[in-house]
Amino acid sequence: MLFHKQNFTNRFHELGDAFYQQQAPSPLHKPHLVHINHHAASLLDQSAAALNNDQFRDFACGNSTHPDTRPIAAIYAGHQFGHFVSQLGDGRALLLGEIKNSAGEHWEIQLKGAGMTPYSRQGDGRAVLRSSIREYLCSEAMFGLGIATTRALAMVNSEEEVFREQLETGAVIVRLAPSFIRFGSFELFASRGQHEQVKTLADFVISHYYPDILQQSEASLSSSKSANPYQLLFAEVVKKTALMIAQWQSVGFAHGVMNTDNMSILGLTLDYGPFGFLDSYQPDHICNHSDHQGRYSFKNQPGIAHWNLARLAEALLSLMTIDEATEALSVYEETYSQNYMRLMRRKLGFFKQPVNDKQHQNQDLLIAPLLNLMAKNQVDYTLFFRQLADFKSPAQQSKSVRDLFPDREAFDAWLVHYEHALEQTPITTEQRREKMNRINPKYILRNYMAETAIKKATEENDYSEIDKIFTLMQSPYDEHPDMLHYAGFPPDWASSISLSCSS
Ligand code: AMP
Ligand code: MG
Repeated sequence: MLFHKQNFTNRFHELGDAFYQQQAPSPLHKPHLVHINHHAASLLDQSAAALNNDQFRDFACGNSTHPDTRPIAAIYAGHQFGHFVSQLGDGRALLLGEIKNSAGEHWEIQLKGAGMTPYSRQGDGRAVLRSSIREYLCSEAMFGLGIATTRALAMVNSEEEVFREQLETGAVIVRLAPSFIRFGSFELFASRGQHEQVKTLADFVISHYYPDILQQSEASLSSSKSANPYQLLFAEVVKKTALMIAQWQSVGFAHGVMNTDNMSILGLTLDYGPFGFLDSYQPDHICNHSDHQGRYSFKNQPGIAHWNLARLAEALLSLMTIDEATEALSVYEETYSQNYMRLMRRKLGFFKQPVNDKQHQNQDLLIAPLLNLMAKNQVDYTLFFRQLADFKSPAQQSKSVRDLFPDREAFDAWLVHYEHALEQTPITTEQRREKMNRINPKYILRNYMAETAIKKATEENDYSEIDKIFTLMQSPYDEHPDMLHYAGFPPDWASSISLSCSS
């Protein structure tokens, strides 16, 4: 048997049927396994070898269900492009169940693309191979970068015909996360005035995912000001979200569809669609072709996350006062900028907490002018930071990093300040270089790379590039001499790739 009965915990199911509807997966025609993620398999105490068989293939695409799973589609609502949509839900995702591993961690197992659900609206409940490859690769890339994300365990392709702009094949990815609960899950019940359900959901999230809050709240009972556990919950979500967004901005990741139904209550990067990593540094970059106003442009992400958190706060107003909500939300900006500045300082090679305000200022004052310069000169974001590690001194300036700037004089002027700030930090060039190479990735999942893997898979039934890029993305800070062709500038054709929500 694939998974043992006693390992299934299925706690979300216990919330009751206001939170989901039971829905069996729709079988896929002639499925085959495309990939298994060794590392994610280990989270379920499995080896990839043990999963590489027809039994797991059928489980992974929903063609056979394990007797201890209970496939359900969760209901939620959400603000999409700023407008409230009163009812959404898992339109093509099914939660099969939850497994407790030998380390005591709980992992929910979800199939994405396993057929229609009561929440499919006009959709067919399917995901095509193209978009599945993108999510599969990107969730691992985010994991490799150290950013909180849902995981992908396996991908299945099939001969099921699915029509998008053209005929494509239906695929399924098996996603794992401690929970897939979204901001929109709370918004649904709050908008219907179902405060009992809002509380049930909040209690569920606290007890399973933020257990420290219970202790904090209990400890506060003896003090004069007792803490409201729901305010503490919201404050934790604010902090986790702020950290996640700071990390997105520091690696140049644009999500593309930051609707509140795509925001995880655990601060995980969730629902990969038309995402993109910046090539050249363009703060106005819009990766989603359907985002005509640029609501979800790269530079708007921190502000949008704040806006989304405000919508979550509103949904929790039956559990905390406006003052409590405002107080918790006010921490967002500071948490975001502290994390962002810390990450950017490290990207520049400043690893120690500055010893005084002057030093702090010298370091921080480097960041905005550099980013302006990069935007003006359209400098490749990833290449710049990786190459900056080789910087020695203006006299023996590393040629390559300067060459990224058409306006060399402007960059040289910045370098003078940079070197001055470096002189104040007690670290050898070699030590700094090593540390910088652990924070500035050599490889990111550029769109053209995913596209290369997609072309091979869809046109030649060759999945080898998926595996190569997947493995590369698991350790993006390492050198990988055999993969250097992915460490340079994107090819010219990369700029013609167009992505939208349709997948
Ligand atoms: P997304 O932007 O992928 O998070 O999708 C937004 C909403 O549309 C979610 O509730 C999805 O479940 C639903 N959806 C997207 N694509 C499909 C599809 N092919 N069939 C059914 N529902 C879909
Ligand atoms: Mg979604």
